Amino acid sequence: MDAKINNELQLDDFLNVTTVAIAWSNRRTQRVEYVNPAFVDMFGYTLEDVRDSNVWLTNFYPDEHFLHNVFLPWREQEDKRQDQGLPATQLELQVCCKDKRSRYVRLRYKLIGDKRLIHFVDITDYWVTSQRLKLRSEMLDMVVKGSSLPEMLHAIVKKVQDEIPESFCSVLLLDETGTRLVIGAAPDMPEFYNNAIHGIEIGAKVGSCGAAAFLNKRVVVEDINTHENWQAYLPLTREAGVAACWSQPVRALSGEVIGTFAIYHTKPATPSEKDIELIHFASNVASIAIENRRSHQALQQRAFYDHLTGLANRGYFLEQAESAIEAAIVNRHSLAMIMMDVDFFKEVNDQYGHKVGDMVLQALSSACEEELRSDDIIGRMGGEEFAVILSNTPQPQVLEIAERLRSRLASLNMVSDDQMSITFTVSLGVAYAKPDDEYSVDALLIKSDKALYKAKEAGRNCVVLEAF
Ligand code: GH3
Ligand code: MG
Ligand code: MG
Repeated sequence: MDAKINNELQLDDFLNVTTVAIAWSNRRTQRVEYVNPAFVDMFGYTLEDVRDSNVWLTNFYPDEHFLHNVFLPWREQEDKRQDQGLPATQLELQVCCKDKRSRYVRLRYKLIGDKRLIHFVDITDYWVTSQRLKLRSEMLDMVVKGSSLPEMLHAIVKKVQDEIPESFCSVLLLDETGTRLVIGAAPDMPEFYNNAIHGIEIGAKVGSCGAAAFLNKRVVVEDINTHENWQAYLPLTREAGVAACWSQPVRALSGEVIGTFAIYHTKPATPSEKDIELIHFASNVASIAIENRRSHQALQQRAFYDHLTGLANRGYFLEQAESAIEAAIVNRHSLAMIMMDVDFFKEVNDQYGHKVGDMVLQALSSACEEELRSDDIIGRMGGEEFAVILSNTPQPQVLEIAERLRSRLASLNMVSDDQMSITFTVSLGVAYAKPDDEYSVDALLIKSDKALYKAKEAGRNCVVLEAF
């Protein structure tokens, strides 16, 4: 008898002090008969809350798909295995606690007579860490695969929303002026809300994100309705149904603000330490994504565009020309290439210096871009030579455009640092291909060059056309 009391005491002590959540249910009646204190601590439910096994299951696993297609089939299998004397297996799953927060647990049970002795080990920390590692490697994958910035930001937002139930996240990006925020990703915020936020000017008291970007520090607003930063936006937040907003600046490696990462809640909410960690982590990952895309864009800019004029470089121009030819052949329309070269440019350099020569090339490029239509293709072929592709444009119109470029450039009047007036002219050679002509990029280059040569021969500052 003494030994039994001793055993019971030990069992009771153990059940009360262990951090493993323990419960048992009756397999026959489906009633839960016991939960230990760690169970109540871990999930918030008392025995009263979960006594009915069906109530337990629907509370614990509100995702019906998971309950019916994963959990219950696993339990059925597990019962069968154990009835056959096989060892218990375990399942890692997400449990919805009484306060609606999620915990990740490793569940295992043992059939003892009529009872299912169930225990849960909390693996939330481990799960969060592994999720974050997974998110990091997914991000890196996306970066390597060249996913677009909106795709990457969208993925980060979704991951954070998955980790904090009933939260909505947004990433805002600081625009080039450094004074306004634009939407980077906010897939689950209402469209009217995003439209209203897009382009908002930052400021010390502008909501949570505008203030976080302005102050370069985290701004936690636990209750939007009472916070001074939000008074001007209350109609908007009420319609959107948001009541708390915590915003973390997204910083570049240099430390400067490049955007914000925000977590919204539908009810007033105070962030836990874990929430702060998460928002910090998310803004770091967003920063990697943004900086990566920016350096990628800068590399692309260097690879495809001429640094002096910003026009397509020779390689990229020819690539676009190839596509334009393919389209012209498929759609049976005409195509023209204009080759343009500055007259006596050596003299401009010699007389005013290389810097002024560069200025002339920049002014020429801007004037041409203004003169041409947006679907026309223009590139700097090298030195003071430029080329233009005009698709689906009748020959008289091509000549008219070439002539317009010539006269516009001839009328440009620039002033050097020492107040000298600088003018210049260009010669243009046009190759014109009708819909049925056979030609290639090389043939167009040769023909337009020949026409350009003739224009130089004819006295410069003029247009010469060569047809196929
Ligand atoms: P033409 O009318 O026969 O075309 O005479 P030109 O003097 O323009 O002909 P040429 O091809 O002999 O000279 C081109 C000059 O353009 C030579 C070179 O120094 C200058 N040039 C090429 N690239 C640049 C550049 O990026 N900046 C400046 N400032 N000059 C350049
Ligand atoms: Mg020249
Ligand atoms: Mg030249």
